[in-house]
Amino acid sequence: MTTAQEHGGDVRLTGISKTYGSFTAVHPLDLTVPQGSFFALLGASGCGKTTTLRMIAGLEEPSSGTVRLGEQDVTALPPYKRPVNTVFQSYALFPHLDIFENVAFGLRRRGIKSVKKQVGEMLDLVQLGEQARKKPHQLSGGQQQRVAVARALINHPKVLLLDEPLGALDLKLRRQMQLELKRIQTEVGITFVHVTHDQEEAMTMADTVAVMNGGRVEQQGAPADLYENPGTTFVANFLGTSNFIEAEVAEVSGEDVFLKAGGGKLTLPKARCTASVSAGGTVLVGVRPEKISLTHADDAGAIPDGRNRITGRIADSSFIGVSTQYVVDSPVCDAFEVYAQNIERDTRLAPGAEVVLHWNPAHTFGLDADQDVE
Ligand code: ATP
Repeated sequence: MTTAQEHGGDVRLTGISKTYGSFTAVHPLDLTVPQGSFFALLGASGCGKTTTLRMIAGLEEPSSGTVRLGEQDVTALPPYKRPVNTVFQSYALFPHLDIFENVAFGLRRRGIKSVKKQVGEMLDLVQLGEQARKKPHQLSGGQQQRVAVARALINHPKVLLLDEPLGALDLKLRRQMQLELKRIQTEVGITFVHVTHDQEEAMTMADTVAVMNGGRVEQQGAPADLYENPGTTFVANFLGTSNFIEAEVAEVSGEDVFLKAGGGKLTLPKARCTASVSAGGTVLVGVRPEKISLTHADDAGAIPDGRNRITGRIADSSFIGVSTQYVVDSPVCDAFEVYAQNIERDTRLAPGAEVVLHWNPAHTFGLDADQDVE
Protein backbone atom coordinates (compact mmCIF):
# COMPACT_ATOMS: atom_id res chain seq x y z
CA MET A 1 0.00 0.00 0.00
CA THR A 2 1.46 3.36 -1.01
CA THR A 3 0.71 6.61 0.74
CA ALA A 4 0.01 10.14 -0.48
CA GLN A 5 3.37 11.14 0.99
CA GLU A 6 5.22 8.56 -1.12
CA HIS A 7 3.42 9.72 -4.25
CA GLY A 8 3.93 13.40 -3.48
CA GLY A 9 0.36 14.67 -3.34
CA ASP A 10 -1.40 16.95 -5.80
CA VAL A 11 0.48 19.34 -8.07
CA ARG A 12 -0.95 22.76 -7.26
CA LEU A 13 -0.25 25.85 -9.33
CA THR A 14 -1.46 29.08 -7.75
CA GLY A 15 -1.43 32.36 -9.64
CA ILE A 16 1.37 31.05 -11.82
CA SER A 17 2.29 33.25 -14.79
CA LYS A 18 5.10 33.85 -17.26
CA THR A 19 5.95 37.02 -19.11
CA TYR A 20 8.76 37.57 -21.60
CA GLY A 21 9.32 41.33 -21.71
CA SER A 22 5.92 42.81 -22.53
CA PHE A 23 4.55 39.48 -23.85
CA THR A 24 2.51 37.31 -21.53
CA ALA A 25 2.93 33.64 -22.44
CA VAL A 26 0.93 32.39 -19.43
CA HIS A 27 -1.59 34.58 -17.62
CA PRO A 28 -1.96 33.97 -13.87
CA LEU A 29 -3.57 30.59 -13.58
CA ASP A 30 -4.62 28.18 -10.88
CA LEU A 31 -4.47 24.51 -11.65
CA THR A 32 -4.67 21.41 -9.50
CA VAL A 33 -3.44 18.10 -10.87
CA PRO A 34 -4.76 15.33 -8.63
CA GLN A 35 -2.14 12.91 -7.37
CA GLY A 36 -1.97 9.75 -9.43
CA SER A 37 -3.95 11.16 -12.31
CA PHE A 38 -3.15 11.35 -16.00
CA PHE A 39 -3.55 15.04 -16.74
CA ALA A 40 -3.32 16.60 -20.21
CA LEU A 41 -2.59 20.21 -21.09
CA LEU A 42 -4.20 20.59 -24.50
CA GLY A 43 -4.02 23.53 -26.86
CA ALA A 44 -2.84 24.92 -30.17
CA SER A 45 0.76 25.85 -30.81
CA GLY A 46 1.83 28.88 -28.77
CA CYS A 47 -0.96 28.72 -26.16
CA GLY A 48 1.49 28.39 -23.27
CA LYS A 49 1.23 24.69 -22.44
CA THR A 50 4.96 23.93 -22.68
CA THR A 51 5.79 27.02 -20.63
CA THR A 52 3.36 25.82 -17.95
CA LEU A 53 4.96 22.37 -17.97
CA ARG A 54 8.44 23.85 -17.76
CA MET A 55 7.42 25.89 -14.70
CA ILE A 56 6.34 22.66 -12.99
CA ALA A 57 9.70 21.11 -13.94
CA GLY A 58 11.65 24.12 -12.69
CA LEU A 59 13.11 24.72 -16.15
CA GLU A 60 11.34 28.08 -16.36
CA GLU A 61 11.09 30.57 -13.51
CA PRO A 62 7.52 31.84 -13.01
CA SER A 63 6.95 35.60 -13.15
CA SER A 64 4.42 35.18 -10.33
CA GLY A 65 2.76 32.46 -8.31
CA THR A 66 3.72 29.23 -6.63
CA VAL A 67 4.19 25.59 -7.56
CA ARG A 68 3.39 23.11 -4.83
CA LEU A 69 3.80 19.39 -4.72
CA GLY A 70 1.58 18.15 -1.92
CA GLU A 71 2.61 20.14 1.14
CA GLN A 72 5.91 21.27 -0.35
CA ASP A 73 6.40 24.64 -2.05
CA VAL A 74 8.92 23.82 -4.80
CA THR A 75 8.79 27.19 -6.59
CA ALA A 76 12.36 28.12 -5.64
CA LEU A 77 13.86 24.65 -6.11
CA PRO A 78 16.10 23.95 -9.12
CA PRO A 79 14.90 21.13 -11.42
CA TYR A 80 17.22 18.48 -10.06
CA LYS A 81 15.93 19.02 -6.51
CA ARG A 82 12.29 18.52 -7.54
CA PRO A 83 10.83 15.00 -7.43
CA VAL A 84 9.84 15.48 -11.04
CA ASN A 85 11.23 14.25 -14.35
CA THR A 86 10.52 15.19 -17.96
CA VAL A 87 10.25 13.21 -21.19
CA PHE A 88 10.78 15.34 -24.28
CA GLN A 89 9.66 14.84 -27.85
CA SER A 90 13.27 14.39 -28.93
CA TYR A 91 14.01 11.28 -26.91
CA ALA A 92 17.48 12.59 -25.99
CA LEU A 93 18.89 9.07 -25.56
CA PHE A 94 22.65 8.60 -25.40
CA PRO A 95 23.48 7.09 -28.83
CA HIS A 96 26.74 5.44 -27.72
CA LEU A 97 25.14 3.66 -24.72
CA ASP A 98 22.99 0.57 -25.06
CA ILE A 99 19.38 0.53 -23.83
CA PHE A 100 20.31 -0.96 -20.45
CA GLU A 101 22.90 1.76 -19.80
CA ASN A 102 20.57 4.51 -21.01
CA VAL A 103 18.00 3.42 -18.43
CA ALA A 104 20.66 2.84 -15.74
CA PHE A 105 22.10 6.31 -16.22
CA GLY A 106 20.09 8.06 -13.47
CA LEU A 107 21.01 5.35 -10.94
CA ARG A 108 24.71 5.36 -11.80
CA ARG A 109 24.81 9.15 -11.53
CA ARG A 110 23.56 8.80 -7.96
CA GLY A 111 26.42 6.40 -7.30
CA ILE A 112 24.25 3.28 -7.15
CA LYS A 113 26.37 0.26 -8.15
CA SER A 114 23.87 -2.53 -8.15
CA VAL A 115 21.44 -1.54 -10.88
CA LYS A 116 20.59 -4.81 -12.63
CA LYS A 117 17.36 -5.58 -10.80
CA GLN A 118 15.91 -2.08 -11.04
CA VAL A 119 16.82 -1.59 -14.70
CA GLY A 120 15.46 -5.05 -15.52
CA GLU A 121 12.14 -4.22 -13.83
CA MET A 122 11.91 -0.92 -15.63
CA LEU A 123 12.65 -2.51 -19.02
CA ASP A 124 9.98 -5.10 -18.31
CA LEU A 125 7.54 -2.32 -17.46
CA VAL A 126 8.03 -0.76 -20.89
CA GLN A 127 8.22 -4.23 -22.52
CA LEU A 128 11.78 -3.89 -23.76
CA GLY A 129 13.41 -6.62 -21.67
CA GLU A 130 14.64 -8.36 -24.83
CA GLN A 131 16.23 -5.23 -26.28
CA ALA A 132 18.57 -4.36 -23.39
CA ARG A 133 21.81 -4.73 -25.32
CA LYS A 134 20.75 -2.89 -28.46
CA LYS A 135 21.78 0.66 -29.23
CA PRO A 136 19.07 3.33 -29.62
CA HIS A 137 19.44 3.50 -33.42
CA GLN A 138 18.53 -0.21 -33.61
CA LEU A 139 15.09 0.47 -32.14
CA SER A 140 11.92 1.86 -33.69
CA GLY A 141 10.68 5.35 -32.78
CA GLY A 142 8.06 3.95 -30.41
CA GLN A 143 10.63 1.71 -28.70
CA GLN A 144 13.02 4.63 -28.29
CA GLN A 145 10.24 6.66 -26.73
CA ARG A 146 9.61 3.83 -24.25
CA VAL A 147 13.30 3.82 -23.35
CA ALA A 148 13.02 7.56 -22.66
CA VAL A 149 10.04 6.88 -20.38
CA ALA A 150 11.92 4.08 -18.56
CA ARG A 151 14.93 6.33 -18.09
CA ALA A 152 12.74 9.11 -16.69
CA LEU A 153 10.99 6.73 -14.27
CA ILE A 154 14.08 4.92 -12.94
CA ASN A 155 14.63 7.41 -10.10
CA HIS A 156 10.98 7.15 -9.03
CA PRO A 157 9.85 10.73 -9.64
CA LYS A 158 6.55 11.69 -8.04
CA VAL A 159 5.45 13.45 -11.19
CA LEU A 160 6.34 12.62 -14.79
CA LEU A 161 6.05 15.50 -17.26
CA LEU A 162 5.66 14.60 -20.93
CA ASP A 163 6.18 17.32 -23.52
CA GLU A 164 4.60 16.19 -26.83
CA PRO A 165 6.32 12.81 -26.35
CA LEU A 166 4.56 11.20 -29.31
CA GLY A 167 4.97 14.11 -31.71
CA ALA A 168 7.63 12.42 -33.83
CA LEU A 169 5.73 9.18 -34.36
CA ASP A 170 3.46 8.26 -37.25
CA LEU A 171 -0.26 7.99 -36.58
CA LYS A 172 -0.43 4.23 -36.09
CA LEU A 173 2.48 4.17 -33.67
CA ARG A 174 1.11 7.22 -31.89
CA ARG A 175 -2.12 5.40 -31.19
CA GLN A 176 -0.27 2.33 -29.90
CA MET A 177 1.91 4.47 -27.67
CA GLN A 178 -1.09 6.37 -26.28
CA LEU A 179 -2.46 3.10 -24.92
CA GLU A 180 1.00 2.03 -23.83
CA LEU A 181 1.64 5.25 -21.86
CA LYS A 182 -1.77 4.94 -20.23
CA ARG A 183 -0.95 1.37 -19.21
CA ILE A 184 2.42 2.41 -17.78
CA GLN A 185 0.85 5.28 -15.84
CA THR A 186 -1.79 2.98 -14.38
CA GLU A 187 0.89 0.47 -13.41
CA VAL A 188 3.28 2.93 -11.70
CA GLY A 189 0.43 5.03 -10.27
CA ILE A 190 2.29 8.34 -10.29
CA THR A 191 1.02 11.63 -11.67
CA PHE A 192 1.56 12.17 -15.41
CA VAL A 193 1.22 15.66 -16.88
CA HIS A 194 1.12 15.39 -20.66
CA VAL A 195 1.36 18.28 -23.11
CA THR A 196 -0.23 17.84 -26.53
CA HIS A 197 -1.96 19.77 -29.31
CA ASP A 198 -3.83 16.62 -30.39
CA GLN A 199 -7.33 16.48 -28.91
CA GLU A 200 -7.79 12.79 -29.69
CA GLU A 201 -4.56 11.99 -27.87
CA ALA A 202 -5.56 14.00 -24.81
CA MET A 203 -9.03 12.48 -24.72
CA THR A 204 -7.72 8.91 -25.16
CA MET A 205 -5.21 9.06 -22.35
CA ALA A 206 -6.12 11.64 -19.77
CA ASP A 207 -8.41 11.47 -16.76
CA THR A 208 -8.54 15.25 -16.81
CA VAL A 209 -7.90 17.61 -19.72
CA ALA A 210 -7.18 21.33 -19.34
CA VAL A 211 -7.82 23.18 -22.60
CA MET A 212 -5.50 26.18 -22.95
CA ASN A 213 -6.06 29.18 -25.20
CA GLY A 214 -3.95 32.33 -25.36
CA GLY A 215 -2.05 31.63 -22.13
CA ARG A 216 -5.16 30.78 -20.13
CA VAL A 217 -6.93 27.59 -19.12
CA GLU A 218 -10.25 27.95 -20.85
CA GLN A 219 -11.87 24.87 -19.32
CA GLN A 220 -10.87 21.66 -17.62
CA GLY A 221 -12.63 18.42 -16.87
CA ALA A 222 -12.99 14.77 -17.74
CA PRO A 223 -12.76 14.22 -21.52
CA ALA A 224 -16.40 13.15 -21.92
CA ASP A 225 -17.63 16.11 -19.85
CA LEU A 226 -15.62 18.56 -21.92
CA TYR A 227 -16.90 17.04 -25.13
CA GLU A 228 -20.51 16.91 -24.00
CA ASN A 229 -20.55 20.17 -22.06
CA PRO A 230 -18.08 22.63 -23.60
CA GLY A 231 -18.28 26.02 -21.91
CA THR A 232 -17.12 28.07 -24.90
CA THR A 233 -17.17 27.83 -28.69
CA PHE A 234 -13.37 27.54 -28.60
CA VAL A 235 -13.50 24.39 -26.47
CA ALA A 236 -16.43 23.01 -28.48
CA ASN A 237 -14.52 23.49 -31.74
CA PHE A 238 -11.17 22.34 -30.41
CA LEU A 239 -12.60 19.03 -29.24
CA GLY A 240 -14.60 18.26 -32.35
CA THR A 241 -17.17 19.58 -34.78
CA SER A 242 -20.19 21.47 -33.54
CA ASN A 243 -23.26 22.99 -35.06
CA PHE A 244 -24.27 26.33 -33.59
CA ILE A 245 -27.68 27.96 -33.74
CA GLU A 246 -28.45 31.38 -32.35
CA ALA A 247 -31.78 31.10 -30.58
CA GLU A 248 -34.12 33.36 -28.64
CA VAL A 249 -35.13 32.38 -25.12
CA ALA A 250 -38.92 32.00 -25.02
CA GLU A 251 -39.27 30.70 -21.50
CA VAL A 252 -37.24 29.30 -18.65
CA SER A 253 -39.27 26.74 -16.78
CA GLY A 254 -38.42 23.88 -14.43
CA GLU A 255 -35.36 22.02 -15.70
CA ASP A 256 -35.52 23.40 -19.24
CA VAL A 257 -34.97 26.46 -21.35
CA PHE A 258 -37.45 26.75 -24.22
CA LEU A 259 -36.10 28.45 -27.32
CA LYS A 260 -37.29 29.85 -30.64
CA ALA A 261 -35.10 29.52 -33.70
CA GLY A 262 -36.15 30.28 -37.28
CA GLY A 263 -39.82 29.61 -36.60
CA GLY A 264 -39.06 26.31 -34.86
CA LYS A 265 -38.87 25.43 -31.17
CA LEU A 266 -35.95 23.86 -29.32
CA THR A 267 -35.50 22.63 -25.77
CA LEU A 268 -32.24 23.04 -23.86
CA PRO A 269 -31.73 21.37 -20.47
CA LYS A 270 -30.86 24.10 -17.95
CA ALA A 271 -28.09 21.89 -16.55
CA ARG A 272 -26.32 21.98 -19.94
CA CYS A 273 -26.40 25.74 -20.32
CA THR A 274 -23.41 27.82 -19.20
CA ALA A 275 -24.94 31.11 -20.37
CA SER A 276 -27.19 33.11 -18.06
CA VAL A 277 -30.63 32.98 -19.63
CA SER A 278 -33.84 34.94 -19.30
CA ALA A 279 -36.90 35.31 -21.51
CA GLY A 280 -36.19 37.52 -24.52
CA GLY A 281 -32.41 36.94 -24.33
CA THR A 282 -30.27 35.13 -26.86
CA VAL A 283 -28.35 31.91 -26.39
CA LEU A 284 -25.99 30.00 -28.65
CA VAL A 285 -27.17 26.43 -28.94
CA GLY A 286 -24.70 23.71 -29.84
CA VAL A 287 -25.18 20.11 -30.90
CA ARG A 288 -22.59 17.60 -32.05
CA PRO A 289 -23.14 16.32 -35.60
CA GLU A 290 -23.17 12.66 -34.65
CA LYS A 291 -26.10 13.25 -32.27
CA ILE A 292 -28.35 14.36 -35.11
CA SER A 293 -30.66 12.11 -37.11
CA LEU A 294 -31.83 12.96 -40.55
CA THR A 295 -35.29 12.12 -41.88
CA HIS A 296 -36.74 12.90 -45.28
CA ALA A 297 -39.49 15.53 -44.91
CA ASP A 298 -42.07 13.07 -46.31
CA ASP A 299 -41.49 10.82 -43.28
CA ALA A 300 -41.44 13.60 -40.67
CA GLY A 301 -44.64 12.24 -39.09
CA ALA A 302 -42.68 9.21 -37.88
CA ILE A 303 -40.25 11.27 -35.78
CA PRO A 304 -41.00 10.66 -32.09
CA ASP A 305 -42.39 13.51 -30.00
CA GLY A 306 -40.09 15.41 -27.70
CA ARG A 307 -37.11 15.66 -30.05
CA ASN A 308 -35.54 18.94 -31.07
CA ARG A 309 -36.13 19.43 -34.75
CA ILE A 310 -35.27 21.88 -37.47
CA THR A 311 -35.96 21.74 -41.17
CA GLY A 312 -33.42 22.07 -43.95
CA ARG A 313 -32.33 21.04 -47.41
CA ILE A 314 -29.40 18.78 -48.17
CA ALA A 315 -26.58 20.73 -49.78
CA ASP A 316 -23.99 17.99 -50.00
CA SER A 317 -23.32 14.46 -48.88
CA SER A 318 -20.24 12.28 -48.77
CA PHE A 319 -19.97 8.63 -47.93
CA ILE A 320 -17.09 8.13 -45.50
CA GLY A 321 -17.22 4.39 -44.88
CA VAL A 322 -18.95 3.79 -41.56
CA SER A 323 -21.25 6.73 -42.02
CA THR A 324 -22.45 9.37 -44.42
CA GLN A 325 -21.69 12.99 -43.76
CA TYR A 326 -24.32 15.50 -44.81
CA VAL A 327 -24.18 19.25 -45.12
CA VAL A 328 -27.62 20.73 -44.71
CA ASP A 329 -28.76 24.31 -45.35
CA SER A 330 -31.25 25.43 -42.79
CA PRO A 331 -33.01 28.72 -42.11
CA VAL A 332 -31.51 28.72 -38.60
CA CYS A 333 -27.98 27.80 -39.46
CA ASP A 334 -26.24 27.72 -42.83
CA ALA A 335 -24.23 24.62 -43.66
CA PHE A 336 -25.45 22.63 -40.71
CA GLU A 337 -23.12 19.65 -40.67
CA VAL A 338 -24.61 16.26 -39.95
CA TYR A 339 -22.89 12.93 -39.54
CA ALA A 340 -25.62 10.41 -39.88
CA GLN A 341 -24.57 6.99 -38.68
CA ASN A 342 -26.18 3.60 -39.04
CA ILE A 343 -29.18 4.92 -40.86
CA GLU A 344 -30.58 2.75 -43.54
CA ARG A 345 -29.42 3.98 -46.90
CA ASP A 346 -32.12 6.31 -48.13
CA THR A 347 -31.54 7.21 -51.75
CA ARG A 348 -33.92 10.15 -51.34
CA LEU A 349 -31.37 11.87 -49.07
CA ALA A 350 -29.61 13.45 -52.02
CA PRO A 351 -28.65 17.08 -52.55
CA GLY A 352 -31.77 19.22 -52.81
CA ALA A 353 -33.92 16.92 -50.63
CA GLU A 354 -36.07 18.53 -47.93
CA VAL A 355 -35.22 17.00 -44.56
CA VAL A 356 -35.86 17.26 -40.86
CA LEU A 357 -32.86 17.24 -38.53
CA HIS A 358 -33.79 15.96 -35.09
CA TRP A 359 -32.05 15.05 -31.87
CA ASN A 360 -32.63 14.34 -28.21
CA PRO A 361 -32.75 17.67 -26.30
CA ALA A 362 -30.35 16.13 -23.73
CA HIS A 363 -27.59 16.44 -26.35
CA THR A 364 -28.03 20.20 -26.69
CA PHE A 365 -25.65 22.59 -24.93
CA GLY A 366 -26.11 26.30 -24.42
CA LEU A 367 -23.39 28.94 -24.55
CA ASP A 368 -23.13 32.67 -24.13
CA ALA A 369 -24.18 34.14 -27.51
CA ASP A 370 -21.54 36.85 -27.25
CA GLN A 371 -18.67 34.86 -28.78
CA ASP A 372 -17.30 33.89 -32.16
CA VAL A 373 -18.61 30.66 -33.60
CA GLU A 374 -15.51 29.92 -35.68
P1 ATP B 1 4.04 24.55 -28.98
O1 ATP B 1 3.04 23.45 -29.04
O2 ATP B 1 4.29 25.19 -30.31
O3 ATP B 1 5.28 24.20 -28.24
P2 ATP B 1 3.03 25.86 -26.59
O4 ATP B 1 1.57 25.94 -26.38
O5 ATP B 1 3.73 24.82 -25.85
O6 ATP B 1 3.32 25.74 -28.15
P3 ATP B 1 4.84 27.70 -25.41
O7 ATP B 1 6.06 27.01 -25.90
O8 ATP B 1 4.51 27.57 -23.99
O9 ATP B 1 3.59 27.30 -26.29
O10 ATP B 1 4.96 29.25 -25.78
C1 ATP B 1 3.95 30.18 -25.45
C2 ATP B 1 4.29 31.51 -26.06
O11 ATP B 1 5.45 32.05 -25.41
C3 ATP B 1 4.64 31.44 -27.54
O12 ATP B 1 4.09 32.56 -28.19
C4 ATP B 1 6.15 31.50 -27.55
O13 ATP B 1 6.61 32.11 -28.73
C5 ATP B 1 6.45 32.35 -26.34
N1 ATP B 1 7.76 32.01 -25.74
C6 ATP B 1 8.12 30.82 -25.26
N2 ATP B 1 9.37 30.85 -24.77
C7 ATP B 1 9.82 32.13 -24.96
C8 ATP B 1 11.05 32.83 -24.69
N3 ATP B 1 12.07 32.19 -24.10
N4 ATP B 1 11.13 34.12 -25.03
C9 ATP B 1 10.09 34.75 -25.61
N5 ATP B 1 8.90 34.16 -25.90
C10 ATP B 1 8.77 32.88 -25.59
